[in-house]
Amino acid sequence: MQGLMQDWPLLVSKIMEHCGRYYGDQQVVTRSIEGPMHRITYREVEFRAKRVAKALLAHGIKQGDRVGTLAWNTWRHLEAWYGIAGMGAVYHTINPRLFPSQIAYIANHAEDRILFTDLTFVPLLEKLAGELKTIERYVILTDAGHMPKTTLKGAIAYEDFIAAADADYVWPRLDENTACGLCYTSGTTGNPKGVLYSHRSNVLHALAVNAGDGLGLKNSDVILPIVPMFHANAWSIAFSALQVGASLVMPGMRLDGASVFELLETEKVTFSAAVPTVWLMLLQHLEQTGAKLSTLKRVAIGGSACPQAIIEKFERNYGVEVMHAWGMTELSPIGTLAMMKPEMAAWPYEELLKVKLKQGRPMFTVEMKITDDAGRELPRDGKAFGRLKVRGPAIASGYLKGEGGNVLDADGFFDTGDVATIDPDGFMQITDRAKDVIKSGGEWISSIEIENIAVGHPAVAEAAVIGVAHPKWDERPLLICVLKKGMAATREEILTYLDGKIAKWWMPDDVVFLDEIPHTATGKIQKMELREKFKSYRLPSAAA
Ligand code: ADP
Repeated sequence: MQGLMQDWPLLVSKIMEHCGRYYGDQQVVTRSIEGPMHRITYREVEFRAKRVAKALLAHGIKQGDRVGTLAWNTWRHLEAWYGIAGMGAVYHTINPRLFPSQIAYIANHAEDRILFTDLTFVPLLEKLAGELKTIERYVILTDAGHMPKTTLKGAIAYEDFIAAADADYVWPRLDENTACGLCYTSGTTGNPKGVLYSHRSNVLHALAVNAGDGLGLKNSDVILPIVPMFHANAWSIAFSALQVGASLVMPGMRLDGASVFELLETEKVTFSAAVPTVWLMLLQHLEQTGAKLSTLKRVAIGGSACPQAIIEKFERNYGVEVMHAWGMTELSPIGTLAMMKPEMAAWPYEELLKVKLKQGRPMFTVEMKITDDAGRELPRDGKAFGRLKVRGPAIASGYLKGEGGNVLDADGFFDTGDVATIDPDGFMQITDRAKDVIKSGGEWISSIEIENIAVGHPAVAEAAVIGVAHPKWDERPLLICVLKKGMAATREEILTYLDGKIAKWWMPDDVVFLDEIPHTATGKIQKMELREKFKSYRLPSAAA
């Protein structure tokens, strides 16, 4: 027997429509690329998104066509997303921090027909244009007054592009499984691969993430999404915030500590989300200036493991609650959040902290298991660690154009490439990426855990642990540290600091200091490059 309820397709245009109608007065505030602060209401954002849709139609864009965006978080980028997806085309976010050759690769692979881009990236695109085979015209996210002289094909200011269209438009009723957005994984191995979100997956994910114990966004929240829209769907904030009509503060391109602090205070931000490196910059700014945070209540931290020092500083020194989250592009992107259990409210802070450092519990829609290399499920005892696999309606079933082949196991689970434990309460803890784990004498050492402890040393700004070849043990850990400006520390001091905090056999065999650690386009440590750099490194213990 079938249910007798209406078939209402889960479309992102439904989110825009709801937001425009019921939260029309709420604002989107942007630190614009041109410089000044810009304010607009959701009512106007919807009007303008409709004009984007009509302008695209006028250009001949059809449903299913890909439209690229190479842009910072701004109100125009938001309008473009909803306009593109709402009319049935696919917004393809491109990460400007990728190598130019990778940008060309993914724009060609996606067959982007139009590219929306910020003023910042015009010079880069002019150099690259010859390689961008499928792009028919460039829409520069600015107005006529700020339009640069450019050789880009069909270049037009965004404001002129949409001025030619009116807002007399009804969002089409698409099949909810229609492709909606496209984001390539960074491709630390091989070429980047395209994750193709559907309307249904984006809407379900935004609802699931926004549960009360999850991000729990409210109409009264003022949200600063520092996480870029080009990085894994902006952790769903561009959808979740509009579902509840929370105001948005878009940071544009300035993400340094002082700029973020200024926005937090002047716009009275209550919630924000970013990767640990951004929060480190903010916390350093606060420490240097002695400033306090007067409105910020909660922050979400993910993208890489959140060091204990960040959680403690936010919560103890500034009264800001930290929500650690884990995910990846293929998961839309959030998989787990630090959703605490009710009894934990009475726990001593030290105990609570141990749970907060874990990556959290899966929200509804995410199923999760850990297995050994043969695919056998491992116990959820918080000790056994194995390959983390996930299943759910907002998780990739494959990559665009079949790249990477079949990525699901026989039961339909996707292998995340992460290694993790799951405890009896369901809290998952990443111990490493499968390719970064250090294999010492047949046992695994977690690089992440050592790094997290090392950055707790007052002089250490950043730490990376890699496996280096060892004649007896196969591999042993090498700790690489970047020191804070003006601070000093010796190898012995760092090792003494770690002593007693990790198992003896996990102790790095050596510590080296670098001025800088290489990062990927999504701000993660480039372990591959470090392994290459230190591939012939001779550990002192190797001589023994
Ligand atoms: P990439 O870095 O390859 O572009 P993603 O941005 O999708 O891809 O990153 C996903 C990966 O980032 C995860 O598989 C995991 O290794 C890491 N990651 C994300 N959040 C966390 C977290 N909270 N703790 C530890 N690792 C994390």
